[in-house]
Amino acid sequence: MTTFTELALSKPVLSAITRIGYEQPSPIQAAAIPHLLEGRDILGTAQTGTGKTAAFALPALSNIDLKVEAPQVLVLAPTRELAIQVAEAFQNYASDMRGFHVLPIYGGSSMSGQLRQLQRGVHVVVGTPGRVMDHLRRGTLKLDKLKTVVLDEADEMLRMGFIDDVTWILDHTPPERQVALFSATMPAVIRKVANTYLNNPEEIKIEAKTATVDSVTQRYWKAVGTNKLDAMTRILEAEDFDGVIVFVRTKTLTVELAEKLEARGHRASAINGDMSQQLRERTIEHLKKNKIDIVVATDVAARGIDVARVSHVINYDIPYDTEAYVHRIGRTGRAGRSGNAILFVAPRERNMLRSIEKATRQAITPMELPSREQVQTRRIDQFKASIDKALEQSDLSIYSDLVEAFVKEREIAPEQVAAALAFMAQQDRPLVMEEPRKPERRDSRDATPGFGDDDRPRRKERKEETFTGESIAMERFRIEVGHDHQVKPGDIVGAIANEADLSSAYIGRINLLDDHSTVDLPAGMPAEMLQLLKKVRVRNQPLNIQSQGAADDFVPGAKSPRPKRKGPPNRGGDRPHNRKDSRSDGGRRRS
Ligand code: AMP
Repeated sequence: MTTFTELALSKPVLSAITRIGYEQPSPIQAAAIPHLLEGRDILGTAQTGTGKTAAFALPALSNIDLKVEAPQVLVLAPTRELAIQVAEAFQNYASDMRGFHVLPIYGGSSMSGQLRQLQRGVHVVVGTPGRVMDHLRRGTLKLDKLKTVVLDEADEMLRMGFIDDVTWILDHTPPERQVALFSATMPAVIRKVANTYLNNPEEIKIEAKTATVDSVTQRYWKAVGTNKLDAMTRILEAEDFDGVIVFVRTKTLTVELAEKLEARGHRASAINGDMSQQLRERTIEHLKKNKIDIVVATDVAARGIDVARVSHVINYDIPYDTEAYVHRIGRTGRAGRSGNAILFVAPRERNMLRSIEKATRQAITPMELPSREQVQTRRIDQFKASIDKALEQSDLSIYSDLVEAFVKEREIAPEQVAAALAFMAQQDRPLVMEEPRKPERRDSRDATPGFGDDDRPRRKERKEETFTGESIAMERFRIEVGHDHQVKPGDIVGAIANEADLSSAYIGRINLLDDHSTVDLPAGMPAEMLQLLKKVRVRNQPLNIQSQGAADDFVPGAKSPRPKRKGPPNRGGDRPHNRKDSRSDGGRRRS
């Protein structure tokens, strides 16, 4: 097992990750960081959630010379959301590097602000290909001091039609720079880019080992709509559990979460790698002996826990790889008992869910959060049971006398006294739960499915795609680019998704015609977005987008019949924008 200290990262980088609370490098980090620190090129197969951002950011930061105020690291990312997220990660990991500057650059945000910051000097640039190209052409971004280029989510850049831009940018970097290419999948085009631009790269692939876990019932909850803490407490109310182990990613979160669970009336403790072996063992003993019910742990700290009464494992944070998952859920279903595993999966972590199912060769069934009624019914049942128990097991004669006297004295019904006592007993766990207030919509823009918040400050998390499987109303738009301009559907998807901050899954049917095309987009696009899209250029043609009225409904996230194209059939597989013909003239440019 590698530790962060063994990885020869720079001191400020190490101190930052210690403060953030990372306990152990994830597999992709342990595999990639030593090679990247040595200056080797990397070809990494890794998806979101594996810790790949830190895998390239930590060594890149360790190699930066703060005195040189010119871009030393360039990260290319398919979307503005990812660019912002990666830039934030750099900022976070560099919080002990004084004078460090990172700049996200992407279409749609003010050019002048970016120019000012570039002039002031930045060490790391994270950008979408279109805007990076613009700056390179204008001479406002200089790459002569560049040490490292990272291609993040390369397959996504290919899917969005950016691959020619990416290679163009690579052609404009110093020949001796290091390249790290990360991709969730390795289609042939990406391999070709790697063969052309990477120098004897180290290939990293975190192989999933298979395992079977028969004694454990596995479920997952799609983590949307309710925060994870509320979801977990609701699940704990509704499930028949004995002992529980909750897995999280950071040491800090183990402590925070254990405290929050305690505040909600559970008997919970944390264990993590910072605690002495002795303290950890004592906590496990407490779990064994029924003194506590819930242990919140990191993967490292929970290694080898063998407590028969653990009836549930809750994967509060998804594990980095399938092996860790199998290890985690093996903490339940022990000693011939059956166990339960519940996994929280954010929409962007769906790929990891699929990998886990593939590796364990078992389907994980979706679960709904228990409803308020279910929780309420259960509380009432438990309350009744506790009354039965008190009636059965205790001599209550003194209390009966007391209540009788009280009833006489106040001249009230005994039920009223009982009701007051029930209220007092259940003050922290009300037997009748009130409906929560519905959140109000902030403005009409929020009501348009798929569109982002545009220029508003982003939340820390990458915006999550939530597909309900329901169809949404679409509107057909005419755009002034077509076969005559050698346009490919991927060019249109890429430009619209990026400039309108619209998830590509919401882009419906595309009809390529000779001198123009049509594209279906969610109905009710905000006016300012439409204005913005009018000016966008694809294959050097202003889109001049115009509504043609309602189109057929569309199910976002589902495979669509697009693109409908003339000419030879697309042999690029079942993904709509899997362009095999990557080498075109690269003439697309967005203004
Ligand atoms: P990524 O795959 O880069 O999107 O990272 C997924 C999440 O894992 C992010 O929230 C990171 O903060 C977190 N993370 C990355 N590396 C570690 C680590 N070594 N320990 C704990 N959490 C990590």
